[in-house]
Amino acid sequence: MHEQSITELAAGLREKGFSSRELTEHYLARIERLDPALNSYITVSADTALAAADAADARIAAGDAGPLTGIPIAHKDIFLTEGLKTTCGSRMLDNFVAPFDATVVERLAAAGVVVLGKLNMDEFAMGSSNETSYYGPVRNPWDTTRVPGGSSGGSAAAVAAGLCAAASGTDTGGSIRQPAAFCGITGIKPTYGRCSRWGMIAFASSLDQAGVLTRSAADAALLLGAMAGFDERDSTSASEPVPDYGATLTDDIAGLRIGLPKEYFGEGLDAGVEASVRAGLAELEKLGASITDISLPNAPLSVPAYYVVAPAECSSNLARFDGVRYGHRCEAPQDLEDLYKRSRAEGFGAEVKRRIMIGTYALSAGYFDAYYLKAQQLRHLIADDFRRAFEQVDLIMGPTTPTTAFPLGAKTDDPVAMYLNDIYTIATNLAGLPGLSVPVAPVDGLPVGLQMIGNYFAEGRLLNVAHRLQQATDWHRAVPPGFA
Ligand code: GLN
Repeated sequence: MHEQSITELAAGLREKGFSSRELTEHYLARIERLDPALNSYITVSADTALAAADAADARIAAGDAGPLTGIPIAHKDIFLTEGLKTTCGSRMLDNFVAPFDATVVERLAAAGVVVLGKLNMDEFAMGSSNETSYYGPVRNPWDTTRVPGGSSGGSAAAVAAGLCAAASGTDTGGSIRQPAAFCGITGIKPTYGRCSRWGMIAFASSLDQAGVLTRSAADAALLLGAMAGFDERDSTSASEPVPDYGATLTDDIAGLRIGLPKEYFGEGLDAGVEASVRAGLAELEKLGASITDISLPNAPLSVPAYYVVAPAECSSNLARFDGVRYGHRCEAPQDLEDLYKRSRAEGFGAEVKRRIMIGTYALSAGYFDAYYLKAQQLRHLIADDFRRAFEQVDLIMGPTTPTTAFPLGAKTDDPVAMYLNDIYTIATNLAGLPGLSVPVAPVDGLPVGLQMIGNYFAEGRLLNVAHRLQQATDWHRAVPPGFA
């Protein structure tokens, strides 16, 4: 059952091949048997999942089911879930139970999904390998000595290993697309503002965006359609209506103009990854797309700009975790200052502290203009590059990551090498554009992602092109040996 797409599972549920309770029990048994090797879940909630499955079965019996009713998914542990622990991968929130659901969680629940539990992630979504989690690293199901990518590493590993039908994720600088690429699944980060940030623990608010990690573009269309849309509780939520992503999935892509930025095919790109990406592009050409070379001249500046903007915003967002209002509180504080200092020293891990310090420095008087203001100017230049490119082409494509998944521990001592993982994904976040990663041919048994970037609110087109590619090829159907 776990190899089936959501559409297939929904048909099985409707035609009474199996119940949502049976499906949920199947996933729970797989999690118990297989997750010890991966560590993709922080919390598994069998009781609430089975209760939701029974409610879904009742809806199905009453003829009141939608395409997601009774489908078992899991949420990245950054989304608040009422009554279910939300840790954000941090000791700071080790015992935090939210009093309400995030909008994304609420909307998927209304569509009838079953939530199996909460997925492991880099602490406060800061990382590219899931090694900064307080709950330990997640392992890649394709090779358990390697990382699954991050920060939505638990989401990617669980979907790839068939430990949930699909998962939510968030992407501030690549955290949906990069782990999707490393784990051989489909991941989409929509346009900034497309999904509500209400109840999604903030990292860098001008970049954070919710999205999904799935086995196929068609599955992503279903989930994204249910999650997206205006929310008055998020001041940056987009009022743009949500189209029916399913309705345009099979549209013809003949005449599609694809641009390949030369900056995404230069030094640092692994030759095997490049060959796989080019083979994926050749399939799109067979479907009638045309390919031209373009340039995003400021793209190489996206990593430095991001590592000023994101830490600056994180230093402000994480100020609320002070041991008083939220989060871990140290034992026997001597006075208020001691309480703040020790609670934060104990509650946050090394990478989070590094970012808070960089951000505080970049925002301080005397440095603000040199760093934060400069980075915001770069952000405009980067967005302008994309604006010009989209006058010439419909979609921009390239690799999602420069390499395949690397071994655990390989980059933990070198933050800059770790940050360079996101060299092809970050510009999209800085510009607020939607991006999607689909699996193409593996290299040495490890998955490779082809990235597609669209203009604002072009999620429907991205899903359409990805779906057509998946209809024509089988790359997305591969399952990691050992998790069949
Ligand atoms: N890897 C990037 C970082 O560490 C992006 C993380 C993300 O998208 N949440 O900031």
